[in-house]
Amino acid sequence: MKVPLVDLASQYQALRPQMNMAIQSVLDRTAFILGKEVSDFERAFAQYIGVKHCVGVCSGTDAIEMALEACGIGPGDEVITVPNTYIATCEAISQVGATIRWVEVDSRTYNLDPANLEAAITSRTKAILPVHLYGQPADMEPIMAIAARYGLMVIEDAAQAHGARYRGQRIGNVGNASCFSFYPGKNLGAYGDAGAVCTDNDDIADTVRLLRNHGQREKYVHLVEGSCHRLDNLQAAVLGVKLPHLDGWNAARRAHAALYDELLKDVPGVVTPYLAPGMEPVYHLYVIQVPERDRVQAALKAAGIETGIHYPIPLHEQPAYARLGHRPEDFPVSHALGPRILSLPMYAEVTDEQIHHVADTLKQVLARA
Ligand SMILES: *Cc1c(COP(=O)(O)O)cnc(C)c1O
Repeated sequence: MKVPLVDLASQYQALRPQMNMAIQSVLDRTAFILGKEVSDFERAFAQYIGVKHCVGVCSGTDAIEMALEACGIGPGDEVITVPNTYIATCEAISQVGATIRWVEVDSRTYNLDPANLEAAITSRTKAILPVHLYGQPADMEPIMAIAARYGLMVIEDAAQAHGARYRGQRIGNVGNASCFSFYPGKNLGAYGDAGAVCTDNDDIADTVRLLRNHGQREKYVHLVEGSCHRLDNLQAAVLGVKLPHLDGWNAARRAHAALYDELLKDVPGVVTPYLAPGMEPVYHLYVIQVPERDRVQAALKAAGIETGIHYPIPLHEQPAYARLGHRPEDFPVSHALGPRILSLPMYAEVTDEQIHHVADTLKQVLARA
């Protein structure tokens, strides 16, 4: 039995008639730039997240960059985030000219540990950028409290957490602004690059709207210099077809995670995802820790089971950030996770039979040590 890490084809097959119709309709109208599909999706997604504004942009990376810029963050400012995230989080900070300040994550949730925040705040700190890694909400309440005490903005990297809830509240409406990616493999994925900034703040939304479209509200009247960061109308049509299914897909992911949890709970050496109280995650990824991870991954691959590593090298150890002068042991939790983590097959359409097969094969592989 073959089990892929993700399977985008089965979702497309299930949606094929409506999806093809939605795409065909855009083609028939040649409505490619900032059309009705973009504004319809923005309205629907804002309502889904529970915010006043959603501004569609061309990727999750650009969403973070524009949210930072709209919050007034630039050269000389420091932004606090975590070293165990996808590089896009930090690229966005550098792109606006600000300085990255990493804080260590919690060893159980793999998310920003609020206990480490205050020590990282300086007179230049302007914002905190928590990441809801793997679709697990970061611990927002203490983060918001510390931000309020120091007058900092909070921008959520929600690229892996569409639909997750923190103490009943939708992820993406807790901070001052939140950033989503609709990269094809995300829980809500387009058929190319796409992203969005969500916010209740009129000024932030207005600035992102200007920045994404050459600073114009009216054609050829440029109020500021922006750039070309618009959400593509074809991608908005795709997202509009998919959004009504998101809660169902996320519920399926949670059920799959519960089955993995059950099947792997007593397997020696395996650490399954920790679920902090009050969190409703969406399992963008189902990440376990295993001993001898590389051997285990190779053996699973030989058995037809595809897995991933998110992410093998924490950012403070990446060549791209050598200039920041960190040593691996500066962030021991992030450092230790790299060689131990393994992302198991996870997508709404994965079957119970496939999950049983993954768990059984994993147990056999571990017993062979
Ligand atoms: C995917 C992702 C991004 C970037 O999104 P793109 O749409 O690929 O630019 C940013 N942060 C995290 C945590 C991500 O997983």
